[in-house]
Amino acid sequence: MLCTRLTNARFLTMDPRHPVAHDLGIWRGRIVGVDDAVTSLPARETVDLGGATVLPGFIDSHVHLAWAGLKAGTPSVAPCERIEDILAVVDAAARRPAPPGAWVDVAGYDQRALGRHLTAAELDRVSHGRKVFLMHDSGHACVVNTAVLDLLPDGTPHEDGFLAESAMTTARRLRLPYSQEELADAIGLAARACLDEGITACAEAGIGGGLLGHSPVELGAYQLLRDRGRLPIRVQLMASGDTLCPRAAHTDDGFTRALDLGLRTGFGDDWLSLGALKIYTDGGMMARTAALTSPYEGASDNVGRFQDDPERLTALIVDGHLAGWQLAVHAIGDRAADLALDALERAQKLRPRPDARHRIEHAGLIRPDQLPRFAALGVSAVVQPNFLRFFGDDYATVMGQDRAGWMYRGRGFLDHGVALVGSSDRPVTDGAPLRAIQFMVERASVSGRLVGPDEAVTVDEALRAYTVAGAHACRWEDTAGALAPGMRADLVVLGDDPHRVDPSRIGDIQIVRTFVDGRDTRAEG
Ligand SMILES: [Zn+2]
Repeated sequence: MLCTRLTNARFLTMDPRHPVAHDLGIWRGRIVGVDDAVTSLPARETVDLGGATVLPGFIDSHVHLAWAGLKAGTPSVAPCERIEDILAVVDAAARRPAPPGAWVDVAGYDQRALGRHLTAAELDRVSHGRKVFLMHDSGHACVVNTAVLDLLPDGTPHEDGFLAESAMTTARRLRLPYSQEELADAIGLAARACLDEGITACAEAGIGGGLLGHSPVELGAYQLLRDRGRLPIRVQLMASGDTLCPRAAHTDDGFTRALDLGLRTGFGDDWLSLGALKIYTDGGMMARTAALTSPYEGASDNVGRFQDDPERLTALIVDGHLAGWQLAVHAIGDRAADLALDALERAQKLRPRPDARHRIEHAGLIRPDQLPRFAALGVSAVVQPNFLRFFGDDYATVMGQDRAGWMYRGRGFLDHGVALVGSSDRPVTDGAPLRAIQFMVERASVSGRLVGPDEAVTVDEALRAYTVAGAHACRWEDTAGALAPGMRADLVVLGDDPHRVDPSRIGDIQIVRTFVDGRDTRAEG
């Protein structure tokens, strides 16, 4: 007896043994089989999908759920293009009634429309005696007022209140922690938004510390949500690199730094598990802090920056590898990718782990000579196509003509045998996988400018980046990313087939329903 039979659909299974199916049977959240294997079995419920196209649920392999949820409830200066308009938003936020000592959080800051950075002195005019923290949209920088600057340790580098990378982390630590309840609400909100985009599983890119952690006990917020039956999608949690601490393990274990209790990649279950160790090596293109080998175009003194001393970063990567972690190394600029690749190579030499499945997050600017190194090390590239869809014009300008074609590659990785994995980095940019898939195929920014057109991939290759390849990067290949017997019944019903519409319309295809664990999430509200 099946729990559910889904019928009258075009299942694009991503399973080479049976690529297209008409019927799919589900029992207790798992796929029993397709077509002849299930057509004659009795089912408690049969759902006619009216000929719709169905794909495995999308996997967003790099997200920030807590940040996304908190940002949604934070006053934003995002549409402002003038200093005075920004200050008006901050002024209104600072006037809101709040408990004594409460910070004024403001989201959506981006200097690019202003032509310069806001200053602490400007914020002071509208702070009303409160501590003000204006988060940069990249998540790599902020502007704070003097009340915050006064609390920073001596020598914290800033430019009139603008702090980037590790200096931002220092300022943010003063603001932390958030409570588990507050985080659980934010995570739930962001996860439900994922469902609306057809996402059934995601990987949270760094909790507990680093640039974007919210609390040293952040994992508990996810568990709280799960305990209450309010975690609507499957979540894998990456631990921030700085959560690794010296631990007196047995010398035979071969490592000296670990998470408490020796927890590492793989612990957990189908709904909530521990993923990779997230290590930031550089900044980002939006804040002009991605580490490059040649300067940003028009800024001959700026080659971006590392998050820390390169030797310390390398040691952390090596230690994480030795302790058995999968690593997710944030590297946006090509100089950061050099550091990441060198460190991963050194780690693999010290202790070969052929199935370590290390990932480089973003891989925003990859020189041609670096592509074979990804392949040789078996490192996957976890890219964010929507960065270029929305910021491609700006990025192409600051990288210059010679390098613009190396950004957030597609074809180049695939042709070198590198696993290409899609993700959003939400809330940095729009999360919808179908819009990212459209970009991967078209390589056109919202203004219509082509960004690295040679890096275009096929619709099928782009879909794989959000299904099969995502599952592999998250070590879920036995249970997710394809519609096959024994896999989780996580799937998305689309209003049209991405292969059959004009590529310029892929992003507009409607998400009709999203099933998680065999259940229609729409029906559950
Ligand atoms: Zn991220």
